[in-house]
Amino acid sequence: MTFFAKRMTVNQTEEITNFRFYRVLLLTIGAILILTGCGGRSEQYGSVDTAMGTVVSQTLYVCGDREEAASETAAVMDLLTGLERQELSWRIEESEVARINALSDEEKAKKISQGQESPLREGMSVPISSAMGQILQQIWQVSADSRGALDVTLGRLSRLWNLDALAVETAEITVPTQEQIRTALENTGYERVRISPGTLELPPGMQLDLGAVGKGIACDRVGEYLRSRSRITGAVVAVGGSVITYGQKPDGSPWKVAITHPREEGKYLGILSLTGEHYISTSGDYERYVMVDGVRYHHIFDPSTGAPARSGLCSVTIVCDSGLLADALSTACFVLGPQQGLALAETYGAQALLVEEDGTVHMTDGMRDMYTAE
Ligand code: AMP
Ligand code: MG
Repeated sequence: MTFFAKRMTVNQTEEITNFRFYRVLLLTIGAILILTGCGGRSEQYGSVDTAMGTVVSQTLYVCGDREEAASETAAVMDLLTGLERQELSWRIEESEVARINALSDEEKAKKISQGQESPLREGMSVPISSAMGQILQQIWQVSADSRGALDVTLGRLSRLWNLDALAVETAEITVPTQEQIRTALENTGYERVRISPGTLELPPGMQLDLGAVGKGIACDRVGEYLRSRSRITGAVVAVGGSVITYGQKPDGSPWKVAITHPREEGKYLGILSLTGEHYISTSGDYERYVMVDGVRYHHIFDPSTGAPARSGLCSVTIVCDSGLLADALSTACFVLGPQQGLALAETYGAQALLVEEDGTVHMTDGMRDMYTAE
């Protein structure tokens, strides 16, 4: 900057002429690239696949041919598979979360074998990557702001309820006893954890479950990838209940994202119209559940009771500028219920749509501009 300003004073006319020349040259090259690369227009390509235990659907507008578009959708899938395998999954041994959990369990077993009566009281330190540190910091902020409605330390509780069985609608579950729930809750509690750069301090035996934020984090990573690819001009990528919209359509019309009807299968509750980059996440009691004696047992737990949340809500959708936050807030608001849920979303400047079991819909003001009921 300084260099340019100084030269301007030395030979202003020449510099301005050169500057104009280069600008015209760059604009011409740019126009040729657009015309040859895209024929003046990006084409739409789609793919449906599975990753992170859910369906991933991609609609990409790519400046290139079918083969180039296929390599982009494949790259997105690789990125999601890598995120699950290396960082977030508690089931895949080599992932960072599974490694934290394994160390935590080993330490608990060691303390018990040494005859310590309260192995859970003293914290232990586990090294973590800086990416994991950043993720956990953001999660812990939402946990604090929601007074524990979001708590990713409830790994033992979610295993007790056996979420894999809940993934199949017809599955039967054995409802845990109060005693089992109490024991599982002894190993939980976000407020018992300290996060510092490179280190996580947690009570031995605590198990992390990042299921409430994983798909949102996936959308953040997809966003980073899309921004790095100049030939992708627009995209909508859905990772289960979390969606990213990016860029624009060639005709400039808004992205349409449908919100699943929580009680009428195969129907939509309404449509969100969005332009540009947004992150959308829905949490619902219809996603993984089983009915036992007329009672719905679903996968979103109230950490204060250890049972599926009964806040009166059956679906929460959040729209904001971060995938992790959208996902974290949709789960937290579901647990908090309509009034506290709306208030939490508002403190984050996020837009929210909350549906009560009787069908009553609550919305933030900004959501009214995006949402059209079916
Ligand atoms: P979501 O669909 O984003 O609301 O996340 C639900 C998943 O997060 C569940 O399948 C559990 O693995 C986990 N989970 C359930 N309840 C909570 C909670 N209150 N806080 C954090 N994670 C939770
Ligand atoms: Mg969530």
